[in-house]
Amino acid sequence: MNLAVLLDQAATRHAGLPAVCLGTETLWTFAQLHARVGAIAAALRADHAPGARIALCSENRPEYVELLFGIWAAGLVAVPVNYKLHAREVRQIVEDAGAALAFASPGLAPDLQQALPCPVIALDGAAYRALLAPAPLQIAPVAADALAWLFYTSGTTGRSKGAMLTHGNLLAMAVAHLADIEPELGPQCSQLHGAPMSHGSGLYLLPSLARGARQVVPASHGFEPDEFLALCDTHPGSGAFLAPTMVQRLREALAARGGRRPRQLRCIVYGGGPMYLQELRRAMDAFGPVFAQIYGQGETPMTITGLTRADHGSADAQQLASVGWPRSGTEVAILGAQGAPLPAGEPGEIAVRGATVMAGYWRNPEATAQALPQGAGGWLWTGDIGVLDHGGRLSLRDRSKDVVISGGSNIYPREVEEVLLTHPGVAEACVVGAPDAQWGEVVVAYVVVAPGLPQDAAALDAHCLAHIARFKRPKRYVFVDALPKNSYGKVLKRALRELDAQREAPQG
Ligand code: AMP
Repeated sequence: MNLAVLLDQAATRHAGLPAVCLGTETLWTFAQLHARVGAIAAALRADHAPGARIALCSENRPEYVELLFGIWAAGLVAVPVNYKLHAREVRQIVEDAGAALAFASPGLAPDLQQALPCPVIALDGAAYRALLAPAPLQIAPVAADALAWLFYTSGTTGRSKGAMLTHGNLLAMAVAHLADIEPELGPQCSQLHGAPMSHGSGLYLLPSLARGARQVVPASHGFEPDEFLALCDTHPGSGAFLAPTMVQRLREALAARGGRRPRQLRCIVYGGGPMYLQELRRAMDAFGPVFAQIYGQGETPMTITGLTRADHGSADAQQLASVGWPRSGTEVAILGAQGAPLPAGEPGEIAVRGATVMAGYWRNPEATAQALPQGAGGWLWTGDIGVLDHGGRLSLRDRSKDVVISGGSNIYPREVEEVLLTHPGVAEACVVGAPDAQWGEVVVAYVVVAPGLPQDAAALDAHCLAHIARFKRPKRYVFVDALPKNSYGKVLKRALRELDAQREAPQG
């Protein structure tokens, strides 16, 4: 089934209801959105053969919604690109995807028109308006394995690769979301796009729009905590996907304005990076029982395991620190180096099988063979290390590349980070391994201290000694003003390791 059918069905049922809002204003009803998508699909179909790739380079904007559905209805493939990338990096992605056309927001279009090898249509320009000549919505029939979205990875570990997501993958993702995480979604709900629509938030369009929820794009086109809180006061049944760093900023903004919970806030789904227990507890205190967690990756979009809002009610700290249970229709295993499943309690690489798993990496057979050694339909090796308990609950340790092996013992940086973050003097912490002649590797902690508090390595050492095994505690502390992060707010451990190697290199 073509994903555009989801829009067609929602528009048939909810024609007069708000479909897309900018800030507090309704821009288009479902009937109007349906008409615009029909026009865009007809225009794109006239110029592009089925399967052509169309790049989207834009901050969060209402046009994202109509372009995605227009591209799918025409039988084409969307290539959403992180708008914070440098024009040179956008070019790499557009070239890799072999995109025939790019849409760009007004701020980005002039640079991209110079940098990209394909035509670029600015979202506010005459060429865009010309696409909107009325035409009935015609939806191209597609097979379940037809490509819908080339999902370029955020590139925390090297050059970005295009995960090939099919119509079948995204449909399975949407259905699993409705089954597990937000079954209540309906026309009484709003989906707020605070996180980038090129990434996590864009995927949430599908289940929410399918159920008749309105899509709300902040007028700032991004994530401004105060604006976001105000939108949660305005739009009925507000829900959003937010990265853990955004949740933290939202909580701080709420505290700064006196702590009154937004009137309409229904659900915050967090994921895409570690949410430390300490921060989760603070956020739950501030916002109440609105949190759900998903663990996923671009290669199996937002669908590996999850914790529902009810699961967050548990008093069990291990449960809150875990990533929960396998999602509906998803099989999860912990595999040893040779590919055999490991028993409960033993850490190994997390592997996933099911209808959400990508078809492979676009034009990259080597990377595909590494991630999907048995081909499409086999296990996806996620590159994450985790452990399943006897009740089938998954706890994430770290990316396999981030595990520190010191004196033959595996040390999971996240465990050390969790402990450091419980110290009142620590605002942010990131733990990496550094080469060491005696131990192979040693643990090094990069720490941002809380405002006004001292850089006190001895106090942090004592704190670690009190909470974790001796061999896991950092051998060195480096105090920094900020941690290097990518544009989705994920800490770049690779960059930190490189920085550390430079710091430690003998001078002269
Ligand atoms: P991306 O493909 O850019 O979304 O990155 C996916 C990676 O982010 C996963 O492989 C994990 O390492 C990490 N990740 C995703 N969800 C979570 C989560 N709920 N908790 C901790 N890490 C996560």
